[in-house]
Amino acid sequence: MNCQICGKPASIHLTDISLSDEKSEGHYCIDHAREAGLSPQQAQSMRDRQAAMTGFIAYVKANRRVLTEDEMQQIGVLRPGDPGVTKSLEYWKQIAQLILADDEE
Ligand SMILES: [Zn+2]
Repeated sequence: MNCQICGKPASIHLTDISLSDEKSEGHYCIDHAREAGLSPQQAQSMRDRQAAMTGFIAYVKANRRVLTEDEMQQIGVLRPGDPGVTKSLEYWKQIAQLILADDEE
């Protein structure tokens, strides 16, 4: 999916974040994140999250097991001190199991 303004590969997909109903679909590169109604900080944090997610998937596939909490923190999908960290840990464990189950087929 490419940026709908300049055609470069898009990193921001509004379908993922649903900012508002009228902008529920849109694809933008980091340069045009502002067009999507995101501040540069929000755009950066989305990019970090996407990078962490990609790293997480690669790690699970390479190690073929659910990651420990420490490993998740190193990769960046879990943030220590985050009030929702226990819930996030469960969420990422489930994602890891899905990735592993999917890989076995
Ligand atoms: Zn663009």
